[in-house]
Amino acid sequence: MTAGTGRWRLRGVMAGVAVAAVALPAAALAVNADGDRTEAAREAIVGGRARNVILLIGDGMGDSEITSARNYARGAAGRLALDTLPLTGSYTTYSLSREAPHRPEYVTDSAASATGWSTGRKTYNGAIGVDVDGRPAPSLLQLAQRAGFRTGDVTTADITDATPAAQVAHVSNRDCQGPQSMQTCPEEAKEKGGLGSIAEQFLDVRPDVVLGGGRGFFHEELQAGASAGRSVWDQAAKAGYRRVTDATGLAQAGPEKPLLGLFAEKNMDLEWVGPLAAPQGTEPQRCAPNSDRDRSQPRLRDMTWKALHLLDQRTARTRGKGFFLQVEGASIDKQNHAANPCGQIGETVGFDAAVAEVLRYQAKNPDTLVIVTADHGHTSQIVEAGARTMGATATLITADGAPMTISYATAPLSESQLHTGTQVRIAAKGPQAANILGVTNQTDLFTTIRRALGV
Ligand code: MG
Ligand code: ZN
Repeated sequence: MTAGTGRWRLRGVMAGVAVAAVALPAAALAVNADGDRTEAAREAIVGGRARNVILLIGDGMGDSEITSARNYARGAAGRLALDTLPLTGSYTTYSLSREAPHRPEYVTDSAASATGWSTGRKTYNGAIGVDVDGRPAPSLLQLAQRAGFRTGDVTTADITDATPAAQVAHVSNRDCQGPQSMQTCPEEAKEKGGLGSIAEQFLDVRPDVVLGGGRGFFHEELQAGASAGRSVWDQAAKAGYRRVTDATGLAQAGPEKPLLGLFAEKNMDLEWVGPLAAPQGTEPQRCAPNSDRDRSQPRLRDMTWKALHLLDQRTARTRGKGFFLQVEGASIDKQNHAANPCGQIGETVGFDAAVAEVLRYQAKNPDTLVIVTADHGHTSQIVEAGARTMGATATLITADGAPMTISYATAPLSESQLHTGTQVRIAAKGPQAANILGVTNQTDLFTTIRRALGV
């Protein structure tokens, strides 16, 4: 099949988007016209300490996921905000076999990968903040907090989900998210003298700003001590948190108290909807905004903006050293598992809007290190327009007005699509950013951020 043809009568499909097809995105001209970039690269390399570090994680956001989001939203020659970071490298994401820890597990899950950059230790899939022998190791968030930095943890998933959890919790199994959900790690419950569930450990560590979904686990009842029978959510008020549950509450929150905002029972709602990939493919079409999205939920961009400003204000109030903030776009991964290209791309574009917020902050605060990366690769592949694969495909009409076919073929369609073991992009701007250049290991990110904060 000739590239650009495909199995549809594209003339009809393309008629309405002819203007988009001929308009070359401005970013492409800027990149191509800017000849020698040696000086710009030299200027981007800054050593020394960072006052703040902001780490943005696109869960499951490999090169393929970035490319399909860029093609769809900006066009093939356009650029996302995350493409504009001046220094870019790749890092390896493998985990370790629990049974044979000298052996790599080439495909990581989100728990082992987040533990990798949070603690600097490779571990087994499913582990949160513990090494391959089950020993807890302090996280970047905890090290920063102990050294006098303000801290924040933001996600679109349950706040107790693996990626945000690895900055606060130490537990042998990622499923132990609430005090009544300890079936896979019963010996680690508080009533057994353990550190307790991930939700309980959030209150014990007490980051300054905690925003995401996952109210369900916070409604579980504490099982140990004088507070037994009380919910984690109630206990959070006792621990001094201001608690909010919608965008209005978030907007009104001031810097006086630490803030816990949980905006959904489970994962937060998706930004976009569209056709699921199917074995026979789909007709070329565009994605649509998710009209079922609960309007009371803030967007990732809004949570990120608020977290930045609260941390900034709390740093000033407490004469803190600065702050460490982790922000996760979680459902890039979850919709990749579901073979839902519009869901996946909408979340990537939503994540990119949070990156843009952070880069605006960084432009005014150049002593801030910003890092954008992923925890592992994922299924989706851009294949020749209209192609059928051994899996399922869907075809979207992009910002170029061109058809883009995305294939999901790492598992039967009736099952969850799989993570992949590829290296992923890591990009950075600010003090110590040069340490992400070349090919590094996921655990090196721990050292880079630690050095930047001087902790
Ligand atoms: Mg995650
Ligand atoms: Zn996943």
